Parts: sequence; C-alpha cells; structure tokens
Amino acid sequence: MQSDQLYDVIIIGGSYAGLSAAMALGRSLRDVLIIDSGQPCNAQTPHSHNFLTQDGARPADINTIALDQVLAYSTVKYHQAWATHAEKVEEGFQVFTEAEEGFRARKLIFATGIRDQFPEIPGFKESWGKTIVHCPYCHGYEFRGKKTALLANGPKAFHLAGLIHNLSQDLAIITGGKADFSPEQLNILSKKNIRLIEKSVSCISNEKGILKKLVLEDQTSEEFEVAYAAVPFYQHSAIPESLGCLLDEHGYIQTNQMRETTVPGIYACGDNSSMIRSVANAVYTGNFAGAIVNMALVEGSR
Ligand SMILES: Cc1cc2nc3c(=O)[nH]c(=O)nc-3n(C[C@H](O)[C@H](O)[C@H](O)COP(=O)(O)OP(=O)(O)OC[C@H]3O[C@@H](n4cnc5c(N)ncnc54)[C@H](O)[C@@H]3O)c2cc1C
Repeated sequence: MQSDQLYDVIIIGGSYAGLSAAMALGRSLRDVLIIDSGQPCNAQTPHSHNFLTQDGARPADINTIALDQVLAYSTVKYHQAWATHAEKVEEGFQVFTEAEEGFRARKLIFATGIRDQFPEIPGFKESWGKTIVHCPYCHGYEFRGKKTALLANGPKAFHLAGLIHNLSQDLAIITGGKADFSPEQLNILSKKNIRLIEKSVSCISNEKGILKKLVLEDQTSEEFEVAYAAVPFYQHSAIPESLGCLLDEHGYIQTNQMRETTVPGIYACGDNSSMIRSVANAVYTGNFAGAIVNMALVEGSR
C-alpha cells in the first residue's frame, strides 16, 4: 500500500534520538512520520541512569513519556513497523516496511541505533545490562565498591580500567589471552593493584542475570558482583548503507557537525553515528538533527 502523503521528514527509529528529532520538527509544524520497530538497545537494563530528570527510571518509561509528548504535536505521526528498504525518488525518498507499505518524504533521518554482538559465552546475554554492563557512567555508581571484573584487553581495557578503578578498587582485568599493555601501562595498573587474569571466560554463572561467578577456560572460577565488557556492534539498520551513506572506520554512520550523512537529504543521530553512547547524547544529537533538517527545509537545501 502506497501512502499519498508527502511527509517533510521520515524518521526511522523512534527511541530517544528519533523522538527528540521529531519533537524539534513537530514544534516547527513539520509533517513527520516516525517508523519504529520498538527494539531499543537498552531494553534489558532495569534502570537507566545519568539522564537528568529521569535518573533511575525504567528505559521503557522514559520512551513512553517521550512518545506521549511528541505525539501531542498533531503533525507528527508514529507507525510501529520495521523499515526494510528505501530508495531515492524525485521528491526525496521512499521508505518501505515489511508489510510492503510505502511512505515518501523530502528528508530522511536515521535514528536507528546499533546492535550489540554478544560473545558466545553461556550466561552473557542474560546478564547484559543487569550485572554485565558497558559503561561506568551509566551503571558504575550502582556497583561502586563491588568486586569487579573488566572483560577487555589493550587500549580499550586500559582506558576503562582507569574509570572503573575510580569506582571500585577491587578490580581484575580478564584479558582473554596474553595481556596487551605497554610496560608503562603495566606499571600504572600494578600501582593501582589492578589484577591481570590472562585467561578467557568460558561461562558466566548467574541467577536471572545476577552475576555469581566467572568460570575461566581452565575451569577455575572466581566470584564477581559485576563485569564490564566492551562488545562489538553492527548497525541496527542496513538501509543507510544501502542508500550510499558511508560508515567510518569504527562502523558508525559518517556525519559532519550538522548531522548530515555523506548522502544529501539524509541525516543520522544517536548511537548509529556517535561513539558517545548515552540517552543524553541521543537526545542531544536528535534534537540538533531535527533543527538542522527544519533549517534545510526552510532553505530548500541539501
Ligand atoms: C544494556 C545497556 C544499558 C544502557 N544504560 C544506559 C544508561 O543507564 N544511561 C544512559 O544514558 N545510556 C544507557 N545506555 C545507552 C543508551 O541506551 C543508548 O545510547 C540509547 O538507547 C541510544 O538511543 P538511540 O535512539 O540512538 O538508539 P536506540 O535506543 O537503540 O533505538 C533505536 C530504535 O530504532 C529502531 N529501528 C532500528 N532500525 C529500524 C528499522 N529498520 N525500522 C524501524 N525501526 C528501526 C529500533 O527498534 C529502536 O527503537 C545503555 C545501553 C545499553 C546497551
């Protein structure tokens, strides 16, 4: 089914970044369609932190309030669906959903987020967002002083270890193999009494996501209360790349300071195009993208 309406903007992704963009556009009387499949990356975490006015709230509750506020603007519509593909058309872009609905707009904003790629360690997925966490700013305070593991190696591990040690001095880095640190870094880690365990984790023993112990490759085990992990990711939606948007060397959608991708008329905000992974940053970049797209519509540019 093909909709006759030509929207000003279609926003693919209706979580924090997408809804924030929609609010800026709705307040500028823009006709906006948000297409969202309702699978934000933080769905499994019980409480979200470090976002003003909503510290400790359930992630879904933040989304519910945001959606209610955004849909109060009558020119903004929300459509729950998975967008499968999109193409360039004369007026702008056409987006299709899995139900083969087609929607057209002059501009596109991708607020599609990223998907984490979990290691194949039993217990990892269940514990993700609960006691296996990605970010000291989001969850570190709640685990302050607890017995902590960091599952990482090399520069990333060294960077995170400094931040985490500030919150818990009982810290061990589990490198998953030979430790990859310079002599200077090893010296700093040793001065801070950060232990190195040069083994990989074979199982995460947990009860409903509450970490009990880490079982190592040699079947020895150690109790921990929390583990930090840096996991690889991929783009949640393949549509930006299929339209020609370039990714950077880390896998994020390339944008300039104005949130413009490498394809005219297409913008990106939130996790899909930023190393800073937080609700606050998603809301900020979304709000900014909304304002920039409104300006482009006013000027008839990009
Ligand atoms: C486990 C975990 C815990 C976290 N805890 C915190 C915290 O405590 N505090 C904090 O500030 N940050 C936290 N974060 C980070 C924060 O959740 C993200 O930075 C934020 O969700 C990014 O928002 P976003 O809108 O860019 O993407 P997301 O929230 O991931 O939303 C992307 C949306 O796009 C939709 N989508 C994608 N592709 C399509 C498509 N093709 N068609 C339709 N819809 C599509 C998805 O369904 C989803 O609704 C956490 C992250 C994780 C993984």
